[in-house]
Amino acid sequence: MRDEPGLEVRTTCPYCGVGCGVVASSNRQGVVAVRGDPEHPANFGRLCSKGSALAETLDLDGRLLYPEIRGERATWDAALDTVAKRFSSAIAEHGPDSVAFYVSGQLLTEDYYVANKLMKGFIGSANIDTNSRLCMASSVAGHRRAFGSDTVPGTYEDLELADLVVLTGSNLAWCHPVLYQRIAAAKAARPGMKVVLIDPRRTMTADIADLHLPIAPDGDVALFLGLLAHIHDQGLVDAAYVEAHTSGFETALAAARAVGLSELTAQTGLTATELDTFYRMWGAAEKVVTVYSQGVNQSASGTDKVNAIINCHIATGRIGRPGTGPFSVTGQPNAMGGREVGGLANMLAAHMDIENPEHRALVQRFWKSPVIADRPGLKAVDLFKAVSEGRIKALWIMATNPVDSLPDADAVEAALEACPFVVVSDIVAETDTIRHAHVKLPSLGWGEKDGTVTNSERRISRQRPFLPAPGEARADWWQMAEVGRRMGYEAAFNYTDAAAIFREYAAQTAFENDGSRDLDIGACAEINRESYDALSPFQWPLPVGEGDARSRARFFAEGGYYTADRRACFVSVSPPIKDTAAAGASFTLNTGRVRDHWHTMTRTGKSARLSAHIAEAFAEINPRDARQLGIDDASLVRVANDRGEIVVRALITPRQQPGNIFVPMHWTDQWASSARVDRLVAPVVDPVSGQPALKKTAVTLTKF
Ligand code: SF4
Repeated sequence: MRDEPGLEVRTTCPYCGVGCGVVASSNRQGVVAVRGDPEHPANFGRLCSKGSALAETLDLDGRLLYPEIRGERATWDAALDTVAKRFSSAIAEHGPDSVAFYVSGQLLTEDYYVANKLMKGFIGSANIDTNSRLCMASSVAGHRRAFGSDTVPGTYEDLELADLVVLTGSNLAWCHPVLYQRIAAAKAARPGMKVVLIDPRRTMTADIADLHLPIAPDGDVALFLGLLAHIHDQGLVDAAYVEAHTSGFETALAAARAVGLSELTAQTGLTATELDTFYRMWGAAEKVVTVYSQGVNQSASGTDKVNAIINCHIATGRIGRPGTGPFSVTGQPNAMGGREVGGLANMLAAHMDIENPEHRALVQRFWKSPVIADRPGLKAVDLFKAVSEGRIKALWIMATNPVDSLPDADAVEAALEACPFVVVSDIVAETDTIRHAHVKLPSLGWGEKDGTVTNSERRISRQRPFLPAPGEARADWWQMAEVGRRMGYEAAFNYTDAAAIFREYAAQTAFENDGSRDLDIGACAEINRESYDALSPFQWPLPVGEGDARSRARFFAEGGYYTADRRACFVSVSPPIKDTAAAGASFTLNTGRVRDHWHTMTRTGKSARLSAHIAEAFAEINPRDARQLGIDDASLVRVANDRGEIVVRALITPRQQPGNIFVPMHWTDQWASSARVDRLVAPVVDPVSGQPALKKTAVTLTKF
């Protein structure tokens, strides 16, 4: 575009899972400008601060521009030959499970598709996991337990049509700002609409909430069990829906009724009055959407939380109709696309189940592959544990920075240091992870990449290039395809471009799909390059067929679940056992995002405007705790436990509850203010989803 002033390119924002449409343009001096795409159904022209500052993040300072082998510039041929040789020799000597890929919700669907195909269908291991494990694995597991498929039943429009929007474990105002703006606008236009925020912190999202429930960390299972009992006791069960389309209601209800009021108040930290107020609001609103995000997912009971929420919706038939449904919003731009093509270690491509022999055989037939992984691979935390134990001999990390973002981050760093062979594909030359790479591969960044992403409402949109590839940077899918070809799989990885990969993926979703699988975009199976370039955003499914009715906005109003008996499953859950505080620890540490930064700030850190909002790491502390510890606002504090310590600035605010502190995840060892908070987080995971509990760590807090 730098050579074509005036040209406008429609693309998609690379940050959160809202997936806003962006129009990029340049002036005669080649300066890029961005604005919201008024025609994109996710945002209708809106952008948040991060999206509107995208043009400020496109310079090439700090970019990785050339392949390197052991710190020396190398040719692509030499680098790819080295990767293929080291992976092949590890597999020959130690078997396919001795290698692994750790990928990212930043990858495009086409990148993800090739990575998954190479690992599961040709190497023959399922050791491919993604940083999306940290983002929404509990939602995936909860969906699959309840629906028999990883299906998000609703659409963003439901958040505007609802009588009540419940936001639980979600600081939508900062983490999904355009969705927040859409709800705020709907509420302003229809004041009868209500919003409830369930969050230990009184975040900025509380500004539109009619009720804020300052729930105790991990109190969500109990809260929604209490709601299910209330639904039953108040005669709100949709008996016809439950009878026709579900199973397991009585058992789930019995589990809910086993939780008495005293346990409810103890688990949730809420008063009986607060509980009753919430339950009455939920019961009185015919149209309810319950939105959940990392506060639900990033927990040792994350999957149970998701199912406790879904149980309430299927008990009342409040699902799949306009303005109703449980709604998982994902953190990353392509967490959805990644899981659709099998980017998680426990799933196959096109939402198929790795533990289902028929699905495995089907995928292998489609790929004509020599082998297919026959059991789930290592999930993120276990994968790096295997690296530390020497079980992984070759590891390829793409577009993510696990040394900063995984729990027990120092142990992750030590594991990488000891790993015999580490490849990192990234756009950035210096990160806490890439410094441990034996081979560095330069990838394309936003504005250079070509492919698709799927947002939180199942909408597939194009990310289109509008900048030339810098240096020798190449697409991630190309890098993996080249390695696949060098490993002997020439025909299977002979892609000409991203459109060819998308065609193959679309064909796979429709392959032998008689309607028993939710994900079908067979209408795109023969898309040509021109149509791919012109592809408008659409929601899946989009099977081969006639007319607009092919694309469905919603699922399950009339049942039709993807379980064996086509019924939704009530999952019987119980509140987690209250853990005893670690010796000496007196605070619960919560981690998360701030409004204007993204992950480890490799892009947003380039924008002075974005950095002006919050310039350094902080610990949010309640005034009572600050008084007791003699901590002044903006002074330095030490947050510590037996894993290590960080030093950050105190931000004293009543938005935080006593006994809790919040530290953002963004500031790492790369930044002047080093606050690599994940070094403090224990590698505790949800037993079903494998998602780490990043929001509940026992720590001490002292003046520095
Ligand atoms: Fe980008 Fe999310 Fe902001 Fe939309 S809401 S502009 S997708 S960061």
